[in-house]
Amino acid sequence: DDVLIEARDLTKLHHTAGGVVRAVDGIDLSIRRGETLGLVGESGCGKSTLGRTLIRLHEPDEGSIRYGERDIAHLNRKELRPLRGDLQMVFQDPFASLNPRRSIRQILTEPFSVHGIGTRKERRQIVDDLIEKVGLHSDFAERYPHEISGGQRQRIAIARAIALDPNVVVCDEPVSALDVSVQAQIINLMRRLQTSSGAAYLFISHDLSVIGYMADRIAVMYLGEIVEDAPKAALWKEPLHPYTQALFSAIAQPDPPSVPRRKRVPIEGDIPSAINPPSGCRFRSRCPFAMPICAEQKPALKEPAGRAGTRVSCHLVNSP
Ligand code: SF4
Ligand code: MG
Repeated sequence: DDVLIEARDLTKLHHTAGGVVRAVDGIDLSIRRGETLGLVGESGCGKSTLGRTLIRLHEPDEGSIRYGERDIAHLNRKELRPLRGDLQMVFQDPFASLNPRRSIRQILTEPFSVHGIGTRKERRQIVDDLIEKVGLHSDFAERYPHEISGGQRQRIAIARAIALDPNVVVCDEPVSALDVSVQAQIINLMRRLQTSSGAAYLFISHDLSVIGYMADRIAVMYLGEIVEDAPKAALWKEPLHPYTQALFSAIAQPDPPSVPRRKRVPIEGDIPSAINPPSGCRFRSRCPFAMPICAEQKPALKEPAGRAGTRVSCHLVNSP
């Protein structure tokens, strides 16, 4: 079984002044060894919460997370500690995620000292190697986060994430805060590191061209749920869910260039409140194809005929 991490019925609630938001609502998701699962959807749909809950930066309200032989969904802090090096995260804003008062060397040495790996001298060498692995000169070790550029900071954040050779890495919009000119370099670096490590990556982005470059498989999220999950090539060629079609037809320039031009599927209106989502299919208030059944029955996420490896939740596609 090649599945490294698998969530079942994963649910995470946010308690807000306006009510309870079902930020992640009953999601089934698995990522295989060596695979990058891209996660797309509009902001506020729950992508970040899903990523953080999957690697237990949050505790889920319901559901299970199988990692190796264990269900890690409800492990406590102490039980999670030995797994921290295995389950890592790269955040959108490297400045916020790196301690400004510590040198790059201190930042990158910490995971090794916490886990008691190597002697002082060995750690120096390990950190120098790590810095070079993310494309910087080992001289950077003596600098502080504010002394380097945004792209360099993100390289350091990546170095810290891969320090202990993690099995699962969640990347949450890792290039969105960077200059466009730097984005491609960082994406290239991440893809290279992912390929050579064999780790499972969950790569969150609202940018379909970035996802298209990084992902092997793509999951599309809408209001706390996954509406479609498919191998990249299949999704690119023929997205099945009306929401996916709308997302893809909104790309101004086809990228990769092989994407056929499609008839534009408009998304009408704003994303509805996640506190009181529509009954039945949550996309129905914006779906140009909505039918009476869409208000009455929630479409199941399942494999349509003739599309092995794809799951989609739409009454149009999966007629009962
Ligand atoms: Fe549209 Fe109905 Fe399909 Fe939902 S189930 S996406 S409302 S057609
Ligand atoms: Mg987010």
